[in-house]
Amino acid sequence: MPIARDSVVTIHYTLKDDEGAVIDSSASGEPLAYLHGHGNIVPGLEKELTGRDVGEKVSVRVSPAEGYGEYDKDLVQSVPRRALRGIKDVRPGMHLHAQTEQGPRTVTVTRVAGDMVTLDGNHPLAGKNLNFDIHIEDVRQATEEELSHGHVHGAHGHHHD
Ligand code: ZN
Repeated sequence: MPIARDSVVTIHYTLKDDEGAVIDSSASGEPLAYLHGHGNIVPGLEKELTGRDVGEKVSVRVSPAEGYGEYDKDLVQSVPRRALRGIKDVRPGMHLHAQTEQGPRTVTVTRVAGDMVTLDGNHPLAGKNLNFDIHIEDVRQATEEELSHGHVHGAHGHHHD
């Protein structure tokens, strides 16, 4: 059955940047199962997979606007080290949960210089083209329960405690 809203789609995927470096891949592990049409994957990929069917291989280039967004330099801010008291050993690459003017979000420490810490609230893949190679392994209709939860259950899906 072709992929449509409320399909449960199982895919193997490899995601590369424009230089061909692999950012993420399911190739060495379990495939990904997601609920189609519910924003569980980036919009540009969801759009390209609509109407495709089991067994198809799809290569898609997703622009930042339809991926993780454009890079927004207004989300980068410098704060004094004392503003992060309670957090030990602040260093570049750390992810912190912060209250910002845009609400709670995850920020990445990108620089520590003297007493100042630079925090970047952009998604790590913001501003990047996303080059996906997709192999569609399975397509089925979602159950009522999956639709009410907004995600996939069972093998390769979401597991509840
Ligand atoms: Zn659930």
